[in-house]
Amino acid sequence: MKFELKVLEIIKRTHDAKSFRFPRPEGFDYKPGQYVLVSLTVEGSVVTKPLTLSSSPTEDHIEFTKKLTGHPFSNVLDNMKIGDSAVVSGPFGKMTFEGEHEKVLLLSGGIGITPMISICKYCTDMHIDSNIVLICSNKTENDLVFRKELDEMMHSNSNLKIMYTLTRASESWIGYKERISDKMIINEVPDYMERRFYICGPPEMVHSMEETLASMNIQKEMVKKELLTGY
Ligand SMILES: Cc1cc2nc3c(=O)[nH]c(=O)nc-3n(C[C@H](O)[C@H](O)[C@H](O)COP(=O)(O)OP(=O)(O)OC[C@H]3O[C@@H](n4cnc5c(N)ncnc54)[C@H](O)[C@@H]3O)c2cc1C
Repeated sequence: MKFELKVLEIIKRTHDAKSFRFPRPEGFDYKPGQYVLVSLTVEGSVVTKPLTLSSSPTEDHIEFTKKLTGHPFSNVLDNMKIGDSAVVSGPFGKMTFEGEHEKVLLLSGGIGITPMISICKYCTDMHIDSNIVLICSNKTENDLVFRKELDEMMHSNSNLKIMYTLTRASESWIGYKERISDKMIINEVPDYMERRFYICGPPEMVHSMEETLASMNIQKEMVKKELLTGY
């Protein structure tokens, strides 16, 4: 499905991430974790990029969240105002979760949090009783997109546990200060062998997580992934 949609709301999430909300078109169904193709006019030409829906299918708007890179497509989005339009088509993608497994472990790197918040919000709103652990890896405290929303969800959903790890944490950060590792997973998620795995982030993060999971004897079939290629 393809729609021209007008921006309803713009939410600044961090110093370099913004969410863009649009009315959800009639008949537009999607699964948590899916992405859309967003087309914008950039320097006179139409440029199209994939962006994950950070909204949940339980909501009556759709939203994507872009890491602002300072590059041309990103700058057009960054300068968007309420009422401006974008062409959105989709949904696409197979890294989805609607409660079909009893236990899952979600691993996100940076802006790879976008499908994970959709999954967590959907499962919370729908009172899905799957047990979800989410480990988010970021550089610094200031890069934690959706921290408030995720923490609130964790308080209202006893099946949801969320952890953050920072690779360039400040001295005051209490928590993990490293990349997601086998040791971290073994310590924090001792029943990891009973789980399905979802990985989303930049390609190098996803590949490194796949290697880590393989070294822990997790079969490939247990792992779903989305590589945020192009940045
Ligand atoms: C399935 C999928 C889902 C995605 N979901 C999201 C999402 O939810 N949020 C999100 O933010 N992104 C997401 N992405 C990535 C997104 O589509 C873009 O590729 C990414 O955000 C970078 O786009 P950009 O226009 O900002 O940068 P680009 O201009 O595409 O830059 C990408 C890279 O190209 C190089 N480059 C390009 N121009 C220059 C320049 N002028 N100077 C120097 N280097 C340059 C750099 O290496 C840069 O890092 C997703 C990707 C996929 C495949």
